[in-house]
Amino acid sequence: TKWVYTFGDGAAEGRASDRNLLGGKGANLAEMCSLGLPVPPGFTVTTEACNWYYANGRSYPAALEGEVEEALNHVGRLTGRRFGDPGKLLLVSVRSGARASMPGMMDTVLNLGLNDETVGALAADSGDERFAYDSYRRFIQMYCNVVLGLDHEVFEEILEDRKASLGHELDTDLTALEWQEVIALYKARIEEELGKPFPQDPQEQLWGAIGAVFSSWMNARAITYRRLHDIPESWGTAVNVQAMVFGNMGETSATGVAFTRNPSTGEKSLYGEFLVNAQGEDVVAGIRTPQNITEAARIAAGSDKPSLQKLMPDAFQNFVDISSRLEKHYRDMQDLEFTIERGKLWMLQTRSGKRTAKAALKIAVDMANEGLVTRAEAVARIDPASLDQLLHPTIDPKAKRDVLGIGLPASPGAATGEIVFSSDEAEEAKAVGRKVILVRVETSPEDIHGMHAAEGILTTRGGMTSHAAVVARGMGKPCVSGAGSLRVDHRTGTLMAMGTALKKGDVITIDGGNGQVLKGAVPMLQPELSGDFAAIMEWADAARRMKVRTNAETPADARMARSFGAEGIGLCRTEHMFFDGQRIVAMREMILADTEKDRRAALAKLLPMQRADFLELFEIMAGLPVTIRLLDPPLHEFLPKTEEEIAEVAAAMNVSADKLRQRTEALHEFNPMLGHRGCRLAVSYPEIAEMQARAIFEAAVEAGRKAGQLVVPEVMVPLVGLVKELDYVKARIDQAAKAVMEETGVHIDYLVGTMIELPRAAIRANVIAETAEFFSFGTNDLTQTTFGISRDDAASFLETYRHKGIIEQDPFVSLDIEGVGELVRLAAEKGRAARPGIKLGICGEHGGDPASIRFCEEVGLDYVSCSPFRVPIAKLAAAQAAV
Ligand code: ADP
Ligand code: MG
Ligand code: MG
Repeated sequence: TKWVYTFGDGAAEGRASDRNLLGGKGANLAEMCSLGLPVPPGFTVTTEACNWYYANGRSYPAALEGEVEEALNHVGRLTGRRFGDPGKLLLVSVRSGARASMPGMMDTVLNLGLNDETVGALAADSGDERFAYDSYRRFIQMYCNVVLGLDHEVFEEILEDRKASLGHELDTDLTALEWQEVIALYKARIEEELGKPFPQDPQEQLWGAIGAVFSSWMNARAITYRRLHDIPESWGTAVNVQAMVFGNMGETSATGVAFTRNPSTGEKSLYGEFLVNAQGEDVVAGIRTPQNITEAARIAAGSDKPSLQKLMPDAFQNFVDISSRLEKHYRDMQDLEFTIERGKLWMLQTRSGKRTAKAALKIAVDMANEGLVTRAEAVARIDPASLDQLLHPTIDPKAKRDVLGIGLPASPGAATGEIVFSSDEAEEAKAVGRKVILVRVETSPEDIHGMHAAEGILTTRGGMTSHAAVVARGMGKPCVSGAGSLRVDHRTGTLMAMGTALKKGDVITIDGGNGQVLKGAVPMLQPELSGDFAAIMEWADAARRMKVRTNAETPADARMARSFGAEGIGLCRTEHMFFDGQRIVAMREMILADTEKDRRAALAKLLPMQRADFLELFEIMAGLPVTIRLLDPPLHEFLPKTEEEIAEVAAAMNVSADKLRQRTEALHEFNPMLGHRGCRLAVSYPEIAEMQARAIFEAAVEAGRKAGQLVVPEVMVPLVGLVKELDYVKARIDQAAKAVMEETGVHIDYLVGTMIELPRAAIRANVIAETAEFFSFGTNDLTQTTFGISRDDAASFLETYRHKGIIEQDPFVSLDIEGVGELVRLAAEKGRAARPGIKLGICGEHGGDPASIRFCEEVGLDYVSCSPFRVPIAKLAAAQAAV
């Protein structure tokens, strides 16, 4: 095995594609060398050496020492210097560099090779004593900090003390002699702290730094970062050792960082900062205020400090040329690091630059239009999840934030409104055109109408998967959940926030992007769905195979989804249509009825309302497919709870409150999610399914009459485990269809299918497919039933599971491909075998999750269905999965 790869002087042993072996930094340094760009020569110790190091009790492969020595000699030959030789002093930097850029790894050590003797040589060499001692003290600080584990503060303290007593303000004010004094103080302090002197031997320094880079792969910060970003431990890190160039050699030297395009707006203009007479991370460290690189940026920023363009025009022009060359070469916006040593430009790093979602869109579209990338590549470059930020109003970054408290960023976007403490208040306010934020300790299914009416939701309890969070995300409403420092006091009708008592009607703003709760109305930026966004969506549409439908039952949601480009409804949950106003009374009447006759009487009241709902959805969807699910939840969700509600229903039913209370108790279930719900309701009370089917078919006929084109409704039976359940319910649906056709004389095409949401259904999918004309994978319930984990109770332990490494991801957010996914795959195969061409879709929350969508493409589903706000995300993810 070859452990070391050299680069320098127009040649390199590695290249950009060797990222896995050389890390991102090393691979790109090699590539820049091969392009003939000015890069200080150096070498990279491979990630394989790092892995060997860990596999062998933190020791090095035998050949490594020799290869490093040889590479150092090579660097010496290219620079005309020798490491450790005061006569021809070669100093190096030691830089870590994993495959993926990873904060948390070891910081860079600069000026390595300096000691009490060589510092004199550096002074003589450069003719600049001040520079030499400044470099030495920097080296001591960095080395002690990152290799020897001494706290940075120790040195800061000494330096600040000295500066104060000398009356200096800036580090650059210190003279050579003063730096020598500081260094003496540093060294004394090091001996005191570590019990031994600062290492003087350059070889010892070098191997100390290499070892520190490798060790930092397993430090706590790096481990945490890897866990959060799904970076495997097995990748390892590389070490780059590179000849030093100096940005701190006086007024004609500088160091800086730049992006080839603006990383926050995407605008095509070089964007960056630099400092004169500085080294390494001074620019980002904020020791002095950096200067703009271009004149245009300086003017825009209103800065009176000269730009690089003005100050060092030759180096600037060279840098501009190299930047655009690198951008063209990598075909992406680059993040660059450079140093100018006495007027000569050196490149120290290039990589693809991080950018905001907005900038990512603009850059991708611009580059496609410039011919730098293809449209398919432009589509592939956008992180689908990042679109979420763009679909909602956001707080103007320039706005002043008066923070009242902070919770979890449960659903993105920002919203402003008056505080209300109940869902009824929210609805009343909305009815008279006022905007409100619904503030609750936590929400429950009974708050749906209030959540719909509110601009945003704030809860003081509950996590990212609490009811409020899940429902708000589904509705696309901003939500901050679990804001524990706020307190709702229902007795006094106040929201206590940092000692202030806010009352109903007081205006607050919530930022679902970061969890902040802010005082008053804060200026917002509206989402921009045209322009670059529209272009990317159009290109994604061209590349996509799977259709993208939406989960929607209200006209507002359906319209919103259409505006985002939904291609039909994949899940219309009819129960959500039974909560509003008078409907809930009729619904309760139906549930609490003792006899079929009474049930039918109540259902007759619901029929016209359902029909009107469906008609409106059919009209909005204008001929696109609409899947309607028959009543699914356990009935207890509809039952009256307060005495007031019981009295209201009792009056409507003309029975006593006592009798009603008895009936309610009789309907109690121990585990309603596994109880009397789904198709089990339709088996017990077929008249419910009949009413719903009739409403669907009558609406279809009417929609057809109005639009001249018949819709093809897809009637979906939930929670089927046995084919006989489906057979039984389908017979009722067919009967209703037949009746409506006879009554109207209009022929109706329709499909009857089922959700696959029980393991048994997946296993018996071939048999079920003999009856079912389509499958829709209800992966929320399928996850619950496969894991035997109740989604509503999972929050309390899934987080612990994540922390302890038992699960990597919440299976309710990203599909558990190995387990639940295996059932999906099995059912898809069996379904197709029994009924070739059977329509297959997914309607769980996973239908909007990019990783899950990739899996759906792989299994060959026909469509995914997700909440309206995730439609663009799903379209983009589906396009990426298809190419
Ligand atoms: P990070 O990964 O934190 O950016 P780097 O290894 O890129 O760390 O080093 C940080 C900075 O140190 C670079 O931007 C550059 O300014 C400086 N630096 C690194 N190596 C050298 C070198 N050989 N000569 C001069 N400066 C260097
Ligand atoms: Mg750093
Ligand atoms: Mg860097």
